Amino acid sequence: MRSSSSWTRKRTVHEVSIALAMVDELMRIAAENGAKKITKVSLKIGRLSGIVTDSLVFAFDAIKQEHPLLSSADISIHEIPLIYQCEDCMNRFEAREIHFPSCPACTSVNLKILSGEEQHIENVELEV
Ligand SMILES: [Zn+2]
Repeated sequence: MRSSSSWTRKRTVHEVSIALAMVDELMRIAAENGAKKITKVSLKIGRLSGIVTDSLVFAFDAIKQEHPLLSSADISIHEIPLIYQCEDCMNRFEAREIHFPSCPACTSVNLKILSGEEQHIENVELEV
């Protein structure tokens, strides 16, 4: 099926699949700790992950309703900036754009990503 909203729908599906994977992980953590309830979840999401954080929170809030363990959990997202280090002059800089950048100090494109690829659970608060 084709429609003008297919791009948006695809994007949302991406966040839903990430939220589902995180819910699986949270259930595993809850089971391991014998938790009755998960009260708080903090996620680390790097800018380079391409995740739309609003969509991820929206997906998570929808999915958590199906899980009594999770239904009252608050989700917070810690967005990690995209930081590069220039391998030629060792300059570190934050890239505002995701497009392949060059070093603002020496224009080299020999860059290493220091942060911004994160996509994981940072912290979980449980009620046991
Ligand atoms: Zn440089």
